[in-house]
Amino acid sequence: MKENISMPVQYLKSVGPKRAEAFSNIGINTIRDLLFYFPSRYLDRSTILNCVKVVQYAMNGYQGEVTIIGEVTDSELHYYNRKQIFKVKMKDSSGFFECVWFHGAKYFKDVFHTGDHFAVSGKPVLTKYGHLQIVHPDFDKLAEKESKDFLNTGKIIPFYRVKKELKESNLGDLGLRKIIGSAVANYSYLLQESLPDFLIAENNLIGIVETVQTLHNPKNYSDLDTAKHRLKFEELFYFETLVALRKQFYTSKKKGFSFQVKPGPTKKFLDSLPFELTESQLNVLSEIRKDLESDRPMNRLLQGDVGSGKTIVALISMLIVTENNFQSVLMAPTEILADQHFKNISRLVSAFGLNVELLIGGQTKLERQKILKRIEDGSADIIIGTHALIQDNVKFHKLGLTVIDEQHRFGVMQRSSLIEKGFISDVLIMTATPIPRTLTMTIYGDLDVSVIDQMPKNRKPIKTILRGENKLKEIYNFIIDKAKEGEQSFLVYPLVEESEKLELKAAQSHFEDLCNGELKELRLCLIHGRMNWRDKEKIMFDFAAKKYDVLVSTTVIEVGIDIPDANIIVINDAFRFGLSQLHQLRGRVGRGNRQSYCILITSDVHAAKINKFNYNFDYLSPEQIEKNKSLIRLNAMVKYSSGFDLSEIDLKLRGPGNIFGTQQSGLPELKYADVIEDSSLLLQTREIAFKIIGNDPLLTDSKNILIKKILEEYFLNQIQLAQTA
Ligand code: ADP
Ligand code: MG
Repeated sequence: MKENISMPVQYLKSVGPKRAEAFSNIGINTIRDLLFYFPSRYLDRSTILNCVKVVQYAMNGYQGEVTIIGEVTDSELHYYNRKQIFKVKMKDSSGFFECVWFHGAKYFKDVFHTGDHFAVSGKPVLTKYGHLQIVHPDFDKLAEKESKDFLNTGKIIPFYRVKKELKESNLGDLGLRKIIGSAVANYSYLLQESLPDFLIAENNLIGIVETVQTLHNPKNYSDLDTAKHRLKFEELFYFETLVALRKQFYTSKKKGFSFQVKPGPTKKFLDSLPFELTESQLNVLSEIRKDLESDRPMNRLLQGDVGSGKTIVALISMLIVTENNFQSVLMAPTEILADQHFKNISRLVSAFGLNVELLIGGQTKLERQKILKRIEDGSADIIIGTHALIQDNVKFHKLGLTVIDEQHRFGVMQRSSLIEKGFISDVLIMTATPIPRTLTMTIYGDLDVSVIDQMPKNRKPIKTILRGENKLKEIYNFIIDKAKEGEQSFLVYPLVEESEKLELKAAQSHFEDLCNGELKELRLCLIHGRMNWRDKEKIMFDFAAKKYDVLVSTTVIEVGIDIPDANIIVINDAFRFGLSQLHQLRGRVGRGNRQSYCILITSDVHAAKINKFNYNFDYLSPEQIEKNKSLIRLNAMVKYSSGFDLSEIDLKLRGPGNIFGTQQSGLPELKYADVIEDSSLLLQTREIAFKIIGNDPLLTDSKNILIKKILEEYFLNQIQLAQTA
């Protein structure tokens, strides 16, 4: 058999059938796969100290971590207060030191053998006898030669993650490094170039062989950066090529409607509003208007922070469509929100002779049939419902525009599913989750994006404060005082229990306690997740009509609801909520022109800590971030009012996949690049990819053949998705 890199790893020295199976279990089947298993980190000489230096550091009170390379001279297991303690004595060229473990002794006993070399990292301490000691260090095993080379020549040593499966087949740090090292030495030159020459040349990239060799064996950090850059470039380039193909497919295959925009009706509507649109709203409207006029189907994402006034923009777009004798649909995430949209929109367009319909669960069969008929025969102009509308096989007379509100609640909706259900129309997707621009490009990469980045003029910034539970009494008094001035409050409790029954009980008991206790003199109402939408709606309606002072709720008020006189929101056990949820909740207040407050409640200890806590991601280790997530979230809420700032933080805390359901986007996961950190590279590759696809959509040009081949070889599934989405 001729040597090639598609051979199974089993052909490599030291990889028998058993290890080959272990590799296969972690997704490594061929030699090529192994060549793309890159080090998770590197060790270099500049971070290494010798013992004598470390002793000096420790004597001077140094508190940080150090790394020493040493050889094991002895180890001992002994008991202290019936607990096992394991000590390893080591030496380097300058002296001796020891490593100590107070638990896990049995395990470590089998790891450290006399004569072995290790790089150990941890905080140095001096014992009362003056010995240098490192307690519970991190460590990496080195071959003797490696450690000599390393110290003498300054070689950078790669470390690979030795996953459980590999350990179980008796493969450790050293063994894995050796196997990969020999694969790189013997096979990497066989790697086929995966980027066209012109891209490599134009963008000063290095070839794939050099890239892979450098990543496994960098001579210095600058080479390493060059190699990483090439890898990220390639990944982002193919990613954006898929996005470009999807967009190309979607806009070229289907012709849209070309609506006529008559200025008269829009102006009449604008004149009927009690406020003027912000400049930002007007800009977005003119972008939408161009889409509506063009016969290219509209696929637009409208981003705007909570309360920025997206609904009115959507409504004006719908009016344009209605003027052209087409129907519009507005889909909301919840029934109560659909209902609110229905009421507001009906009121706003009442003077225009339009027929607005609400299609929602809980309507009688007869009622529903009548509505469906009016949608089918065209007497319904604007149809408002929940996202369930998609499932319902509604037949439209002539659908021109579909607006999807608060998209973020549902992840990325595939437009294919809309089309399947007969929603062949222009599409406007609205979201209050302010997604950083680069991320928008990845998950909504084929949509055009409009942003409302300005709040209506009359808004006062919301005051956000964090308080311990011991301040609740004062807060209740504050609510009572404000109620006397006609201002209303929300009191939110998190869902602690999974079970709906318990949730109901918890919400009810809070409610009763408040009614009979601290807030006795006020009028309270309760909303919880177990109520049907009609009951919820009645209470919201009565609350909006100021029949109540305080609305106690579980998180059901989270999205969209608009009550101008509610100026206070108290969020109990605030640490239980996610950042975007907190921001959404806060967005329930501050819609009128009075000062509003968002009061976050947490335990006293927690509150004291958070108010003092000042984080900077650059200084926090991943472990620290992990440990302090709730502190960081609450601190961020107090510090930032803009949803954009918060979403950047949320992204750092949770990663893009978890927040926006990137998995559902049908695009590949990014392995090497980071949409935030590598945002400029993302923009660069996007431009290149869109240009290539724009000029040669079928990739038939000889210089683009390789791109097509790579796409077909590695992204076949995504291409198919791109052609259906
Ligand atoms: P969101 O973008 O969160 O969906 P809404 O569309 O519900 O926000 O708007 C919030 C409130 O602001 C509504 O009461 C709306 O009537 C009002 N509003 C919208 N645009 C303006 C404006 N330009 N000036 C003043 N108030 C506005
Ligand atoms: Mg809204």
